Amino acid sequence: MSRPIQAIINHSALTHNLTIVRQYAPDARILAVLKADAYGHGLLNTANALKNVDGFALLELDAAISLRTTGYQQPILLLEGFFSTNELALFEQYQLSSVIHHTEQVAMLSKYKQHRMGVFIKVNTGMNRLGFSPKQLPQIIEELINNQHIKDITLMTHFASADDPSEKASVSRQLQCFETITKKYNYPCSLSNSAAIINYPETHGNWVRPGIMLYGASPFSDKTAADLNLQPVMTLSSKIIAIHDLKVGDKVGYHGLFEAEYPMRIGIAACGYADGYPRHAPTDTPVLINNQRSRLLGRVSMDMLAIDLTGIKNAKPGDSVVLWGEGIPVDEIAKYAGTSSYELLCGLAARVDRKFL
Ligand code: PLP
Repeated sequence: MSRPIQAIINHSALTHNLTIVRQYAPDARILAVLKADAYGHGLLNTANALKNVDGFALLELDAAISLRTTGYQQPILLLEGFFSTNELALFEQYQLSSVIHHTEQVAMLSKYKQHRMGVFIKVNTGMNRLGFSPKQLPQIIEELINNQHIKDITLMTHFASADDPSEKASVSRQLQCFETITKKYNYPCSLSNSAAIINYPETHGNWVRPGIMLYGASPFSDKTAADLNLQPVMTLSSKIIAIHDLKVGDKVGYHGLFEAEYPMRIGIAACGYADGYPRHAPTDTPVLINNQRSRLLGRVSMDMLAIDLTGIKNAKPGDSVVLWGEGIPVDEIAKYAGTSSYELLCGLAARVDRKFL
């Protein structure tokens, strides 16, 4: 028998969340962001649930090729583009579109002649991660227009703080910068991640790029996924594999970080940080046992964690434990552990079976 841990990936929650994206951005086309193995959910199954979307965006070339060879005909955009002329042959063979953010890439494109590639030219409007400066942009556009091997051009940028309601001014500054330098060109535009799709309709443009909201987590710290009518896609569940009764003063786990102050019953669940559960989740982080809320106790180990079973009636080995997902939002666990839902979902270990329902 294998370890009882698994991640259940809910197909209908994915399609529901896609509907919510469409409600927020009815006039834009949607590039579903599937990077990092679809934020840990499994690339091909996730793509299958989202198969009616207008395009896919990701940044792993092998994953992009596997989407294309599976039969998807939509645009597939590589968010960091290509890194060598060798890769350009693959972009051509599999008809992949590329973000262009660096002059090196423009130079490689001018040397590689056969291609008819769709490009998203990235403008750095203030995040200072990827993209051409507003000053560089006209020259880059000029070069790409003169390159007959470019099929079509979209202009894009990325917001640094659309998820932070106190940073409205930063979003406005980036938007204004983008509009000022791109208005003289008549190219389609792409600006919005999930947070901007929800909070800044004025940024929608022609292509929106939702990631986290498709997976049913909230991009905001002050709004839950349920507030946004998003449904959790991944439920990480395991089982109780051992039970202990503690006396007052007994300690639990590495370094005895938790100490019983009254007689207690605890359960050990088969899930640890090597599965992707955050090691820094503290005592009191919520867990569901047999659909009842309980709490984590002590230090999370590599493969196991301890749960308070005091007050949970008839708990026994084999009972179900939900670590996040249905009934216990991943955003809530992330808050306890001082991290984000992005990190938890993307960090789910390869050794955890994904079961698509
Ligand atoms: N667009 C780009 C360029 C990104 O890097 C990302 C994710 O980091 C997204 C869109 C999707 O962002 P989110 O998951 O916040 O919707």
